[in-house]
Amino acid sequence: RKGSSDLTLRHDDRLLGGLLVDGFDEESCHSRYQSAMYRRNPGRRPSPYLIAKLRRHEALQRRCGPGTAAYSDALEQLKSGKSVASPECRYIVSLPYQGLGNRILAVASAFLYALLTDRVLLIDPSDGMDELLCEPFLGATWLLPPGFPLAGYATFSNDTAETYGNMLRNKVIGADAAADISPAQTPAFAYVYLHSDASAHDKNFFWDEDQRLLRDIQWLVMRTDNYIVPGLFLANAFRGELDLMFPEPDAVFHHLGRYLFHPTNHVWGLVTRYHNAYLAGAAQHVGIQVRVFGAQPNSPELLEQITSCTQRHKLLSEVLAAGEPMTMPPPLASRAKSKAVLVTSLKPWYHEKLKSMYWEHAAANGEVVSVHQPSHEEFQRFGVRSHDAKAWAEIYLLSLADALVTTSQSTFGYVAQGLGGLRPWVMYKPDNDTTVPDPPCGRAVSMEPCFFAAPNYNLWKKQWLDASTIVPHVQRCADFAWGGLML
Ligand code: GDP
Repeated sequence: RKGSSDLTLRHDDRLLGGLLVDGFDEESCHSRYQSAMYRRNPGRRPSPYLIAKLRRHEALQRRCGPGTAAYSDALEQLKSGKSVASPECRYIVSLPYQGLGNRILAVASAFLYALLTDRVLLIDPSDGMDELLCEPFLGATWLLPPGFPLAGYATFSNDTAETYGNMLRNKVIGADAAADISPAQTPAFAYVYLHSDASAHDKNFFWDEDQRLLRDIQWLVMRTDNYIVPGLFLANAFRGELDLMFPEPDAVFHHLGRYLFHPTNHVWGLVTRYHNAYLAGAAQHVGIQVRVFGAQPNSPELLEQITSCTQRHKLLSEVLAAGEPMTMPPPLASRAKSKAVLVTSLKPWYHEKLKSMYWEHAAANGEVVSVHQPSHEEFQRFGVRSHDAKAWAEIYLLSLADALVTTSQSTFGYVAQGLGGLRPWVMYKPDNDTTVPDPPCGRAVSMEPCFFAAPNYNLWKKQWLDASTIVPHVQRCADFAWGGLML
């Protein structure tokens, strides 16, 4: 299904096949209309159904979003603690948290849920997402305005009485799941908690019965650090719509990500200056994401994993041993045989080693290899704006590569591969720190992110299940056996 010309985009299509709309002020967000110029892999074409759905959603955000009478009414309703029979507008507030990759996947997930349930999407800007991302909806804001009246909404947890799971367990809702609940019983809001420590009741979110219960609740506040999209395919009520929106189910994040996530001008400056200075001149551009943790020592085994993965799959040339004669020394660096390697990592060591390797030794095939790393922040930092901006710029730079090598189970890499439309070579986690996995890496079957906590139990049916037996294009993830992945 891949590669036929009507499914891929043209290089010069600044609106990405109709995914984006004209009409935004270009100065306020350069990346929105410039990104197509920077991508060598133009990516997949969105379906007309998805495009129509997006246009309707933008109209919904304009009609019901902050600043409208409908929004003020809905806030009053929320303050009163009562629900109305058929609210004119319904909302989902997304509370992204954890690392940037997690936050981006969480926002994409909440957005798809908003599309499926005709809810206005609002994101909490308190973790700085507003400084990283441009507004995606023409003529409307997606930022939750200050003064949201739910006390403590930003820190709700497993124990909060109003989580969907607790309300279900305590029979506040859903005593008779088969029947619709009457408005008198409908709470004004519910917290949807889909973190790894969420209860079985919370995790039941994905079934039709649960969606029926949630439908009439005007305000939902969702917290997850996960890409829940494969789970959304489990509800019959959503599946038909999803199939129409995404005839290629392996491109869900690809489209949602390119629609939603435009770097702000500051971040776009980081991306474009780096790209133009170090990468744009090369014939080929390979991205290598080395996800390490602050306290981890430099690992010769991981370095070997990187070199054997890239050399085995011909992403990088082998090098000649010292003294080995070169077949034909290149007289002058020619662009045709040049390769720029972008390494991203919290640590500088892997980049330094690779760079020295291609300086001290000749590439066996004569190509010119330059190795670059924009930053090495040493530790993951929380709530530091400049740190997040660099992380976002590096994710984006990786997404511009022709070929990508990623570290398994990393949402940082998932976002890059999805935006880029790339199936990466994934470096598997070794069994222990002193071995190099064999094979060192494998080609991902899909560019989609893995849902690490795919639903595996249905409380209504009291049944354990494997999502892949319900939806054929949801499979287990190669890098995380319990996860769910779209093919
Ligand atoms: P995950 O933890 O690998 O799933 O990815 P996340 O993006 O959710 O969290 C990791 C965070 O650590 C990032 O958001 C950055 O803050 C930081 N980080 C990890 N690797 C890199 C890197 O290669 N470059 C930069 N600039 N930051 C990184």
